[in-house]
Amino acid sequence: MTKYIVLIGDGMADYPIPVLGGKTPLEVAKTPHMDRIASCRIGLVKTIPEGMEPGSDVANLALLGYDPAIYHTGRGPLEAASMGVPLNADQVAFRMNLVTLSRISENRIIMVSHSAGEITTQEGSAIVADLKKDLERPGIRIYPGVAYRHLLVWENGPENVPTIAPHDVLDQNMAPYLFENDPAPIQALIRSSWPLLEKHPVNIKRKQRGLEQANSIWLWGQGKAPQLPSFSRKFGLTGGVISAVDLLKGIGVYAGLQALAVEGATGYLNSNFKGKVEAALGHLRELDFIFLHVEAPDEAGHRGDIAEKIEAVEVFDARIVGPILEGLQSFDDFRVMVASDHLTPISRKTHTADPTTFAWASKDELNGSSTAGSFTENAARQSNLFFEKGHDLMPSFLGMA
Ligand SMILES: [Zn+2]
Repeated sequence: MTKYIVLIGDGMADYPIPVLGGKTPLEVAKTPHMDRIASCRIGLVKTIPEGMEPGSDVANLALLGYDPAIYHTGRGPLEAASMGVPLNADQVAFRMNLVTLSRISENRIIMVSHSAGEITTQEGSAIVADLKKDLERPGIRIYPGVAYRHLLVWENGPENVPTIAPHDVLDQNMAPYLFENDPAPIQALIRSSWPLLEKHPVNIKRKQRGLEQANSIWLWGQGKAPQLPSFSRKFGLTGGVISAVDLLKGIGVYAGLQALAVEGATGYLNSNFKGKVEAALGHLRELDFIFLHVEAPDEAGHRGDIAEKIEAVEVFDARIVGPILEGLQSFDDFRVMVASDHLTPISRKTHTADPTTFAWASKDELNGSSTAGSFTENAARQSNLFFEKGHDLMPSFLGMA
């Protein structure tokens, strides 16, 4: 029985960086294990369909074999699934960030921080507990999440109204948006959080310590529950998802895959990589397919930190890909894929829709490979292997297309 495993280094791919001599982090980083896979097969895949928002939700839906143009309904419902919040057919789930706005005047309101200065989970939960009392009403429920990331569910809420991802508008004036088309329901709800947050004890303490305050909620990425055909019905395989990121766990839940929890998985460089490897190889004993996602390179990209991104790529190769390749040898047969779900270029500090890099190999190919490869954007471009529709890569990898 062939076992299948997909290893995602979130946002690894990038553009050439002048201070790196025109090289990319993937070109500079030492990645012997990904290079070995790339020596067998490497290519480009367009995980973000034309006109769709570049992000991990869209990209990983595509990489799991689902056409995002058909199945993507927003980030909110995916996070709801990961948080164990069921949605009925009329409920619209919103990501609710705690953010820091600088309210200079009615006409000048600047988005200072999309994370309220990386507020802690403890502080965030205390604030959300009071927001529940203040803002909940018939048809509107608020669910606490982690740090600045929370959830608001709105019965018959505004589903198709454009919203703004706060990390995409840092340092920009939000006043036109917040007061446009007044009374716009989403903006009205955002503004209704201000009086409580202004005098909230957590914020008063943060102010005394010179930290950013969570002085506003921010609602975005909304949608209703996606209707995904199950992965097992689509491909005839049982499987699981391993990730610290709610989005990925949520996609797994809707696709009927097991969301396999790993203690200490953080999404940062201090994540429990060993635990993720053990969980993947362990569950592959009984499951056919594992989708293992690592967030750290993307976080470094959003911060614009070149050294941290190179380190995150090297850690991904050494502490995830390497041990996985070693552990897979004990299986009769396997196929392993490594991919960057999308680009998070250092120069942009956010995601882009450019085609991204993947490589995969079977057991025989890997063990028979004697040529050197390189898992880089350039090698992928030169390979002439290109999946215009990202969701076509999975059936090809599984040998079903
Ligand atoms: Zn991503």
